[in-house]
Order: sequence, then C-alpha cells, then structure tokens
Amino acid sequence: MTRKIAILGATGSVGTSTLDLVERNPERFEVVAVTAATNATALADIARRTDARLAVVADESRLDELQAGLAGSCCHAAAGEQALIEAAAGDAELVIAAIVGCAGLTPVMAAVEAGKAVALANKEALVTAGELMTRAAVRTGATLLPVDSEHNAIFQCIACSRKEDVSKIILTASGGPFRTATADAIAAATPAQAVAHPNWSMGAKISVDSATMMNKGLELIEAHYLFGLASDRIDIVIHPQSVVHSLVEFVDGSVLAQLGSPDMRIPIAYALAWPERIPTPAQRLDLLEIARLDFEAPDLTRFPALRLAREALGAGGSAPIVLNAANEAAVASFLAGEIAFTEIARIVERSLEANDLGAPQSIADVLDIDQTTRRRVATTMQAVCQ
Ligand code: NAD
Ligand code: MG
Repeated sequence: MTRKIAILGATGSVGTSTLDLVERNPERFEVVAVTAATNATALADIARRTDARLAVVADESRLDELQAGLAGSCCHAAAGEQALIEAAAGDAELVIAAIVGCAGLTPVMAAVEAGKAVALANKEALVTAGELMTRAAVRTGATLLPVDSEHNAIFQCIACSRKEDVSKIILTASGGPFRTATADAIAAATPAQAVAHPNWSMGAKISVDSATMMNKGLELIEAHYLFGLASDRIDIVIHPQSVVHSLVEFVDGSVLAQLGSPDMRIPIAYALAWPERIPTPAQRLDLLEIARLDFEAPDLTRFPALRLAREALGAGGSAPIVLNAANEAAVASFLAGEIAFTEIARIVERSLEANDLGAPQSIADVLDIDQTTRRRVATTMQAVCQ
C-alpha cells in the first residue's frame, strides 16, 4: 500500500537520506509535500524528482526562485510559516520532521494536532515542547516515531514489552570528535574540527552538538518525553564504535540492544515502514571485523553540556527551552567564528542561571521563551564582545 508522506527539511542530511529510501521504494511511498529553509533551487529539484504536489520554502524572499524552478510542473510553490503548517497538516499520512532546531516546532505541532504519524528527527521540537506535544499526541491519536538512532533503537527494543517492565534505558554516545582530547585542545577547537564527526555524517548544528555532547543532553530530554521515564532511569554511556545504538534493561535483568552500522537510513527506514520493515543499502554489520565494543563513563568536566541538560530536565518548566535556545544561539555564533568552543556551554549555563521565565502553558509560550532567551544571549554576547 502506498503511504503519502511529507518531508519537512527535505534538503538536509536526514531529508536526503529519507529521499534515498523513498526513491528506492517507489511502490511504497508517495511524496505529497517537501520543504526547505532557503535553498529554493535544490527544493524545486527534489519536488520534480519526487512528483510532490506542494513545495514550501520557509524564506518568503525565495518564492520567486522556487516558482521559476517549478515552472511547467504540477507542483504548487508556497512560502512562509503558514505554508509550512499546510505541508505538515495537509494530505500526508506520515510527516518526516527533519527541520533542525526550534524552527521546526510549529510545523511538527501542526502535524501532531492533525493526528498524523510523525517520524521525528527534529529533537529540538520535543525538547522544547515535550509535555505539550506528547499530551497533544494522546488527544489526537498522532503517533510519534523516533528517528534519532538511539531513540529508534529503544523503540525497537521495547516494541513487544509492557512499559512497566522497563527498568531503565541506556543511551549510547560516540563521544564525538573530542572524546580523547585534552581540555586545552577542546578550548582551542575550530568549527572545522568540531563538525568532523568520527562515525556519522550529519548537518552542522547537530555535529557541533555531538562535539560538545549537548546532543546527548538533548537526547536525554527527548528520551524522557518519548518513553515517559524519569531522569534517574536514563543512563548515558560512551560507546566509540557507534554500533550499539542504545539498550533497554527490563525488570528481570534482561538487556536488549539494537545494533547496526552507523547509517541513518536504518532508523529512518524503520520509521518510514513501521510496523513493517523495508530493505536499505546500509552496510551489514560484520562482528568479526568490528571485533570489540568499548564502553566508558562520560566525562562531565570536559563535557559540561551533559550535566547542564540533566539539570534542565530536573528543573523542568522553561529550563529545557532555555537550554535549547541558548545552545542554538551559541552554536550559530561558534560556527560563525564569533565565540570559542567552550563558550557554548558557558552561555548555556549562564542562561539557565539567569532564567526567571515561567513554565509554558502553550506553544505560543514556548516560542516566547525561546525568543526571549535568544535576545538575552545576543545582548550578553554584544556586551562581552565590546
Ligand atoms: P540539516 O542542517 O542537514 O538540515 C536541516 C533541514 O531543515 C534543511 O532542509 C533546512 O533547509 C531546514 N531548515 C533549517 N532551518 C529552517 C527553518 N528556520 N525553517 C524551515 N526549515 C528549516 O540538519 P540534519 O542533520 O538533517 O538534522 C535535522 C534534525 O534531525 C535535527 O533536529 C537533528 O538534531 C536531527 N537528527 C539528525 C541526524 C543526522 O544524522 N543528521 C541524526 C539524528 C537526529
Ligand atoms: Mg542521536
């Protein structure tokens, strides 16, 4: 049976992997909508290749370019936030949420409110609106299918279990490019070094998050909301080979893990075809070639972002939104060459310490807290730079 899908963030790393799977399985998927931030030419190309009916560029100044790229095709070109919402809440049965950052929250919520199945890569949307989104999903019957490899692994491991039989989950982390680096070397890290991930090929923002280990901090919060487990029942273990994608321990002492080569097409395929499976071209696991699997404890001194994320989850209320917004702003400044690598966690820590914003009651509140935090970070950075 053909499944109608919308791909939000179709030009990105997860979007590209999704398109690869869709094009290999044309009988299973019908792409109805595709979206991108600014790259109208690449988006028009994707829309033509997939025969999508709707293509949306978030940046309204790129609409002319998108229309020109789609001239003569049957695809409708649109731009702006309302059009993104239409792509998410329209004809698709399954929405691939692969926008990066809190920018994806409004369209993801539109898909959840419309009761869609949502393949969720956009972890920042869940980190910032976890309670509101999971409650809305229960109300509307929307299904959240985790695409993040760790959460997808856990989802697979608990597929046939009762929730009350899970005693804890163990998120694995590669440790990123600075796993063995000294504190001095980390302090001097350049953007090029930070985005050079040893195992995974990903977008720039998540690559920097992997280097600071904020990615695992965001994933801790993501796991809390997806699986309804308290922070003290979610462990984090460094596993440099990125072969064991995460583990679940049950009350009887059994531990189930999901293994595979580090290729995002495996978790994306599971979310696309769930509850079935489809073939992927991902490299098969050769245990004899891998030969050993290592595990170590994370170092919270060299990687303070992990501690900050756990504290933000414990504090609740607006803290996870502030953590995420300060991190997004700081990572953008680091990538622009404006601040040092270690400033990222410092900015997040200062933002959390100074936070006086109340708990969000609505998505509008979440977006307000996000914007206020970004403004405060910008003001602080200006003061420091003068
Ligand atoms: P990316 O930067 O490669 O792509 C991001 C996509 O979002 C692009 O299509 C871009 O055009 C779009 N986008 C960016 N800003 C936007 C905005 N303001 N409005 C509308 N669209 C916007 O990012 P990615 O690596 O593909 O990651 C996407 C999401 O998936 C992130 O939340 C990331 O944490 C998560 N994720 C990625 C991977 C991976 O392997 N890349 C793995 C796990 C989770
Ligand atoms: Mg992950």
